[in-house]
Amino acid sequence: MEADYDVAILGAGAAGLAAGLYTTRAMMKTVILEQLGPGGQLLITDEIENYPGFPDGIKGQELAIRMDQQTARFGAESEYTEVIGIEDIEKPVKTVHTDDRDFTAKTIIIATGGAHNKLGVAGEDMLAGRGVSYCAVCDGNFFRGQDVVVVGGGDSAMDEGHYLSGIVKSVTFIHRRDELRATKVLQERAFGNEKVKFLWSHVVEEFRGDEALDRALVKNLKTDEVYEFPMAAAFIYVGFHPNTDYLKDLLELDAGGHICTDINMRTVIPRVYACGDARAQSTRQLGAAVGDGITAALSAYHDLNN
Ligand code: NAP
Repeated sequence: MEADYDVAILGAGAAGLAAGLYTTRAMMKTVILEQLGPGGQLLITDEIENYPGFPDGIKGQELAIRMDQQTARFGAESEYTEVIGIEDIEKPVKTVHTDDRDFTAKTIIIATGGAHNKLGVAGEDMLAGRGVSYCAVCDGNFFRGQDVVVVGGGDSAMDEGHYLSGIVKSVTFIHRRDELRATKVLQERAFGNEKVKFLWSHVVEEFRGDEALDRALVKNLKTDEVYEFPMAAAFIYVGFHPNTDYLKDLLELDAGGHICTDINMRTVIPRVYACGDARAQSTRQLGAAVGDGITAALSAYHDLNN
């Protein structure tokens, strides 16, 4: 059976688009399969300050558009459809099933990234979209001039809290320890921001509200005191999980569900590669995702031509 494509790239985030740029420039017939729009995590990131080449920073959405245009320029085809499985993954012609139709390819580059974790507390699902949010860039504007909360103490929490502080009246970080995990420069920026407050050593036990979120039950882990804390919105940034459920019985995954690869992005299955946030040992940095995507593309080209 002839394959439709030399390479099917699953996911059009930074890793997938970088891979597509390199495969098309290597004259590999390329299809990029993406569930939503191109850009992945870039679409929900406001300002990017640590991607080389942009000394004044760049908006995530603008960089997503630029990356997509650059990949399309060299002939990558994009299809907007959800990947639901892969058949004949060990065979020379592999079939990617989507909710729309099947695509056959000689190589597959997996770049399906991941999504922000939920807290898993009462009221979270019920009030999601009604005050509980996982995307400050998408939902921050609804809470202009109000008091909001960010849960988490990592880089994502600090970045998104900083973005929110430009819109809302105050941002209170609720963090389960009394020191932050975030990079020092992001910590310093938060400590110097007069709109920012901290509830140290606290966890949310329940989100509450009738029509919409208006308060949460929080617990002080040092004193065991439990009390209601008012808020117009809660933005949750407590880590990240890879989008790899559809690969569970097909590929080697680590305990967190990330795809195991060698240093050249090869998985244990010939002509199947993984890159970006879905990959084990990813540093979850934009520049690293781009590098992963390029390495995966070069490995695919090499394996197909040798
Ligand atoms: P993260 O670094 O894993 O931080 C998650 C935060 O949530 C931690 O502070 C953690 O607390 C807290 N947390 C986890 N589970 C919790 C729970 N059940 N209840 C309450 N709090 C909980 O995740 P991230 O911030 O999404 O960052 C992930 C990776 O992306 C990192 O490598 C980061 O450097 C990278 N990233 C970088 C940038 C940037 O460079 N500007 C921006 C975003 C992300 P503990 O600290 O107590 O564990």
